[in-house]
Amino acid sequence: MIRFLLVFCLALSTATNSFAQWFKREEPIMGTRVYVELWWQNEARANELMQQVMDEMERINQLMSPYKTRSELSAINRLASEQAVPVSAELLRLIQTSVRYSDVSDGAFDITFASLGSEYDYRNKIKPTESQRKKAAALINYRDMVLLPADNSVRFRKKGMRIDLGGIAKGYAVDNAIAILQAAGVESAIVTAGGDSRILGDHRGRPWLLGIHNPRGDGQVLKLPLEDVSISTSGDYERYFEADGVRYHHIIDPHKGASPSELMSASVLTDKSIDADALSTTLFVLGTDKALKLANSQPGVSAILIDRTGKVYYSSDLVDPAMQ
Ligand code: ADP
Ligand code: MG
Repeated sequence: MIRFLLVFCLALSTATNSFAQWFKREEPIMGTRVYVELWWQNEARANELMQQVMDEMERINQLMSPYKTRSELSAINRLASEQAVPVSAELLRLIQTSVRYSDVSDGAFDITFASLGSEYDYRNKIKPTESQRKKAAALINYRDMVLLPADNSVRFRKKGMRIDLGGIAKGYAVDNAIAILQAAGVESAIVTAGGDSRILGDHRGRPWLLGIHNPRGDGQVLKLPLEDVSISTSGDYERYFEADGVRYHHIIDPHKGASPSELMSASVLTDKSIDADALSTTLFVLGTDKALKLANSQPGVSAILIDRTGKVYYSSDLVDPAMQ
């Protein structure tokens, strides 16, 4: 009888696959690679949770993609020069957070960069003419985007203005995904969307090891032991093309109306992925000196910059005092 019971229990445990292990899934969403890996004791539930993560990413994509004509963001871009456009409280909140980053960065982070950014097609190497570029660059100014929280709507002061949340939406989505996993009782996980990752817990008693890519090669420049933190890297190597010796890439300096060339990559470590995402784009635009100054002024924010000569810079909290 005891032997029978034992066999029965074993059979049950293999049927439900109830030993804890890592589960992972990767899908192309939001024009990038979304990856989730989590530690869980049951395969069916792990699959359910990974599906919830992907669903949340897709929900945000449908809401905020500038390429989906039915997204709320597209409605703003189509209509806000003519009228106040009602949006969800969620989208308005994200736009308000963007404005906060515009304020702290003196306009280096500015979602109205899209007035010019949308004139580029990096895949097909298309750029605006010089007169188109100047005209569009003159429309970049987040202060010309009027937010009306009382009736949850957005309006542009100038015709032809556009917004794009590409510098912050992935970080926001990663935070939401981690919140879903945390609420379900997951203690160890990583969620990545393109250059934005957030780590929940550790890697079963050890830190996760994440690398910062060599901006001009295949390998990684640095490996960082990380736990319970977000990391975001903005670089000039994801979406770009070169013409007449100029590297045109997807990050735009709102004040210059052009892609910044001082840095090749800017990485930020901080608690929340939304902050890491917005700040990495911001630091990239600011360039070495201003970026380090801003990173050092923000509590709980660490930065690693690689300039165009390949030199690596660290925010002061990461610098070993003995090395200074
Ligand atoms: P990704 O994770 O897509 O590589 P990044 O965090 O590096 O994104 O941000 C780059 C994206 O930010 C661009 O693709 C664009 O959508 C947006 N962006 C570019 N310039 C600015 C800017 N000055 N302010 C805010 N967003 C920007
Ligand atoms: Mg970013």
